[in-house]
Amino acid sequence: MMSLKDVDSEIFSLTQKELERQTFVLNMIPSENYVSKAVLEATGSILTNKYAEGYPKKRYYQGMENVDAIEAIAIERAKKLFGAEHANVQPYSGSPANAAIFYALLKPGDKIMGLRLDMGGHLTHGHTVNFSSRFYKSCPYVVDKETGMLDMDEIRKLALKEKPNLIISGYTAYPRIIPFKEFHEIALEVGAYSMADISHIAGLIVGGVHPSPLPFTDVVMTTTHKTLRGPRGAIILCKEKFANAIDRAVFPGLQGGPHQHVIAAKAVAFKEAMKPEFKDYAKQIVKNAKVLAETLMDNGIKLVTGGTDNHLILIDLTPIAIGIGRQVAVALENAGICTNMNTIPYDPSTPFKPSGLRIGTPILTTRGMKEEEMKIIGEWISQIINDYKNEKLQKKIKQEVKELCEKFPLFGW
Ligand SMILES: *Cc1c(COP(=O)(O)O)cnc(C)c1O
Repeated sequence: MMSLKDVDSEIFSLTQKELERQTFVLNMIPSENYVSKAVLEATGSILTNKYAEGYPKKRYYQGMENVDAIEAIAIERAKKLFGAEHANVQPYSGSPANAAIFYALLKPGDKIMGLRLDMGGHLTHGHTVNFSSRFYKSCPYVVDKETGMLDMDEIRKLALKEKPNLIISGYTAYPRIIPFKEFHEIALEVGAYSMADISHIAGLIVGGVHPSPLPFTDVVMTTTHKTLRGPRGAIILCKEKFANAIDRAVFPGLQGGPHQHVIAAKAVAFKEAMKPEFKDYAKQIVKNAKVLAETLMDNGIKLVTGGTDNHLILIDLTPIAIGIGRQVAVALENAGICTNMNTIPYDPSTPFKPSGLRIGTPILTTRGMKEEEMKIIGEWISQIINDYKNEKLQKKIKQEVKELCEKFPLFGW
């Protein structure tokens, strides 16, 4: 980045520092990933210069031959990768993509039914402070108090009672398999549209380690930057009968010019995700999460739902103390382990002082770490949680973390 260095040494040096941070911490935020150099190059390319309102062959600008071809490739790959009838690759990110889906399928005041935020749902699925509960009526479902899992009988009962127009499955902090088929059947029964937001698990789905909501679900949204390991952005997949409504909702409904550099990077990520190695990657993410979960539980750490089926683990810290999610996340960060505090279902504390911690394995797996490393990391995390005020311990582990990270360089894969 030599020109950046010359033009803006401040931003250059902070970017270098961030590279160093990403290299020497164990990054365990489950919604993040480290992309390939190819994805980075496409994202940083001159394609950022082009305006392209409209869709391939139906644009409002001239000079479209190259970006039209790129977007057409991105669309074809997205359809093939997920087995979708239609793909829109223009959404800027997950939240605006969800807004576009609502805009396409609903009228203001219609009813949406998603998982409550403090139970693991997403803001855009009807949370009070979000547009999704301002313009639509939100009647959220919850997880079971005893098991922490989805109870499909209860969800069906709620749907029959509330008669929502849209039922949303897919979450940000749910460590178990999502029964997409059952959600779709409930939607059919009550006359609602079915929508699956697979942002967190898209990489696991294309890797064959989580069931897919396609082809039966009406509309599917995924971000491209989580387990799918592409650039920051999103796509919408749907049945042909919704194609026109979805496309019109994205543009001109909500967005202006699409980000063609990001669309190019999405195409690159889709190509990478079609390779057989990506299946191995997805399998290893889940294997790693399972070993990590086991190691934590062997050390007396309590996990919501008692384990994981996917890439993430939700730790329940209440046996140690209520509302210490932030303190424990800081203690882990002091030890070079980056995580995030999170509410647990039926959290006795508040969202600002939650009692949980969310961790995941996508980045460690990208870096090439396997079961053996998960056992070591699980021991470190357990020691810190069980003694979270011990600063000496944090210092000691930080050094060990650094040595481990040195063996797994960022672009080693
Ligand atoms: C991450 C996420 C989103 C939002 O994505 P942004 O790109 O951050 O707007 C939407 N839904 C779910 C389930 C997510 O996990």
